[in-house]
Amino acid sequence: MARVFRPGNLKEALHFLDAERAAVLAGGTDFMLKAGRYPGAEFAVLSIGHLHELKRIAIDAANVLSLGAVCTLSEILESPLVPLFLKLPIAEIGSPAIRNAATAGGNVCNASPAGDVLPMLYALDATLVLKSHGDQHEMQIRDFIQGPGLIRIAAGQMLTEIRIPLRQTWRCTWRKVGGRRANSVSKTSFYALIDRTSRGLGDVRIALGAIAPTVVRSREAERIILDAYRGKPSQRCTEIIALYDALISPIDDSRSCRDYRRTVSLGLLENFLTEVMRI
Ligand SMILES: Cc1cc2nc3c(=O)[nH]c(=O)nc-3n(C[C@H](O)[C@H](O)[C@H](O)COP(=O)(O)OP(=O)(O)OC[C@H]3O[C@@H](n4cnc5c(N)ncnc54)[C@H](O)[C@@H]3O)c2cc1C
Repeated sequence: MARVFRPGNLKEALHFLDAERAAVLAGGTDFMLKAGRYPGAEFAVLSIGHLHELKRIAIDAANVLSLGAVCTLSEILESPLVPLFLKLPIAEIGSPAIRNAATAGGNVCNASPAGDVLPMLYALDATLVLKSHGDQHEMQIRDFIQGPGLIRIAAGQMLTEIRIPLRQTWRCTWRKVGGRRANSVSKTSFYALIDRTSRGLGDVRIALGAIAPTVVRSREAERIILDAYRGKPSQRCTEIIALYDALISPIDDSRSCRDYRRTVSLGLLENFLTEVMRI
């Protein structure tokens, strides 16, 4: 049976985590599914979804967006501070009822290969703030997520904030392929950003979801895409697709099969390269 502690503030929460080995509960939309697998098990739960210190959304002087870990997906969608290129993937997660409970931090800490918040955080080089009683640590998302359900978090630590460097010039392409239009988990997903300035294409970022143990992003491949765009050698599109083909390792599971995932994700990449980037 679970013993649930509902702290009055963040300090109390961190104190409790320091003293007890407890599972963190935010919106519970992933947690409750996992908890149901261990009926009768004794464990302590720290409920944090109500903590107002973890609900802050702000942009600092360096144009870094701060999302409190327990901001719900609906709160993020409603915030005028959050740009469209972050809202597009979030708007397609679950249903309104799920988005009202599910948090951004929960999506990150659940570390599912199909987590729809993750590709954009990889593409945007998001940093995570991890706090424990008396200590604070920052980590890049690519270092935090180690594999399906595996995160680099120490005993006593919790995720408190997601920091995302913003650029007003980013233009986003987001494609989620699921079993149906709403309330379905990604079979595969594609998130790309381009930064077109008056002097031409300044940057490109590509993150592929649900086709490997973690999100696939390659800075090297992005540099090759930039070179191809600037020099336009015609054979480059096939080479770039082959490069990503070697990076992905999709699996068969109840939602889809590896061949479908591979074909569709590389098809989404090809569409982006030819139609958006015109390589
Ligand atoms: C019907 C349904 C549809 C869904 N559809 C989608 C979808 O389309 N796309 C998608 O990506 N996901 C989907 N999900 C999964 C889920 O809703 C999301 O992953 C959600 O963002 C998880 O957030 P949460 O607050 O509910 O996390 P919780 O369930 O509370 O926690 C998830 C995990 O993270 C840990 N955790 C949570 N917060 C913290 C923290 N601050 N610090 C440390 N550890 C923490 C918990 O201990 C737990 O292990 C769906 C779920 C359901 C039930």
